[in-house]
Amino acid sequence: MRRVTHVPGALEEEEEEEEDSDDVVLLERKVRTSSMPEPARRVCLKEVKRLKKMPQSMPEYALTRNYLELMVELPWNKSTTDRLDIRAARVLLDNDHYAMEKLKKRVLEYLAVRQLKNNLKGPILCFVGPPGVGKTSVGRSVAKTLGREFHRIALGGVCDQSDIRGHRRTYVGSMPGRIINGLKTVGVNNPVFLLDEVDKLGKSLQGDPAAALLEVLDPEQNHNFTDHYLNVAFDLSQVLFIATANTTATIPAALLDRMEVIQVPGYTQEEKIEIAHRHLIPKQLDQHGLTPQQLQIPPATTLGIITRYTREAGVRSLDRKLGAICRAVAVKVAEGQHRGAKLERTDALEAEGGRERSEDVEPQPIGDSGAAGLALPPEMPILIDLHALKDILGPPMYEMEVSERLSQPGVAIGLAWTPLGGELMFVEASRMDGEGQLTLTGQLGDVMKESAHLAISWLRSNAKKYHLTNASGSFDLLDNTDIHLHFPAGAVTKDGPSAGVTIVTCLASLFSGRLVRSDVAMTGEITLRGLVLPL
Ligand code: ADP
Repeated sequence: MRRVTHVPGALEEEEEEEEDSDDVVLLERKVRTSSMPEPARRVCLKEVKRLKKMPQSMPEYALTRNYLELMVELPWNKSTTDRLDIRAARVLLDNDHYAMEKLKKRVLEYLAVRQLKNNLKGPILCFVGPPGVGKTSVGRSVAKTLGREFHRIALGGVCDQSDIRGHRRTYVGSMPGRIINGLKTVGVNNPVFLLDEVDKLGKSLQGDPAAALLEVLDPEQNHNFTDHYLNVAFDLSQVLFIATANTTATIPAALLDRMEVIQVPGYTQEEKIEIAHRHLIPKQLDQHGLTPQQLQIPPATTLGIITRYTREAGVRSLDRKLGAICRAVAVKVAEGQHRGAKLERTDALEAEGGRERSEDVEPQPIGDSGAAGLALPPEMPILIDLHALKDILGPPMYEMEVSERLSQPGVAIGLAWTPLGGELMFVEASRMDGEGQLTLTGQLGDVMKESAHLAISWLRSNAKKYHLTNASGSFDLLDNTDIHLHFPAGAVTKDGPSAGVTIVTCLASLFSGRLVRSDVAMTGEITLRGLVLPL
């Protein structure tokens, strides 16, 4: 805007002002021709009028201009046309995602109803499951099948309602909330908004963001959602909201009420192998500029990665480990190219960068030795076996064999639930001379401590029946005996009643001297009468 001319200062200023008033006129024209609803236009025109009278050195001038620019930019009436073809949607969902049948089925139902009835005021779908099971990626696929824009709004840690609803314009540095910002970014009024991690919304003195979200999600209210910054209503009813969460436990009840929860369970080993070979490996190869002729990962290796290097319900770490392998191989491949041909400097740089091979450099046709006159390193394609795996990823991080830990009486395996997926939980017990005390360690909650007392009481009352004795052969188990129960992974807080049956088993093993089977893990609450309650 600022032109460098050799006119005296006063003239320069005048010229600038003229230009600026041109800008305001332009803005006014934009307001008049924009497709915004009448109430919004009236507000805007009023602001334009004020702007015309305002000296531009005033801080408010910039504020008002920003506001007006946002208003004309918002997609009041602009939308994409939905492409609703259930058959195509099914194919696309199947191509993008292996397994997760239940989720895909529900999503298709949802889309089918939309096809039949366009202005569906249906429930908001909420995908609940551990990290890395494909919740976000299904959301993206839904947008793709509908031909809609996709926008992700991360809600983790948001604890201020103006994050959702914006700040009033009286504040310095005020800005619209994330919903309006998202709409501005995608430029249409019917995108798919993925509200990521609704279970991690915070709460603070600045108001409850969940309450603000309620207004956004409620189909009865959201056709005139008022962002504090805009101060006029915006119709959100065309937006398709999908929420994701790790657990429903921490989603505010009122919010949960507006949503239909679809559980996305973790994957089994077999499913993970399929997902790796169908989706993750091809994707990683592509990202690293490698081809299947250069790198091969047999299923046995994938299984090795899954069992020894990752412990997760989803596939995110698996994906990362596969990425690490690709990087290591990229170095080898690039070195091979370097050795084989007199490379130009650009290629040498690429060899150093390894993984950042630019798209326009054709990968050398490796495997076809005649092609570019390359002398190939002998080991193409590089096959990753378990030894190579150890070289690249280091020693295994998780032991596979639990049986070794069960080689003596007084150890049992329980099952624990966490928002990140199921886990095995060991329970260890030992006894020593003492006065009948019970020591519990491993950061246990009160409920779990009570379970331990319950377990001991039941065992004591049934000691004769099951031939349980203490060290001196007495049926009075706590006679001259102390018991110590420990739940390893001592840094993790544990609670809940369902460890009961595991504790009983563990103690029964301790007092009977018999081993617990290593291929069984258990979970369930016990009662004083010895019943195991269903989950
Ligand atoms: P979440 O949102 O559940 O934490 P993401 O959607 O980000 O997980 O998924 C992580 C990665 O795993 C993505 O790259 C996704 O493509 C992949 N992924 C997860 N589940 C599947 C599946 N069933 N089929 C194919 N890829 C999957």
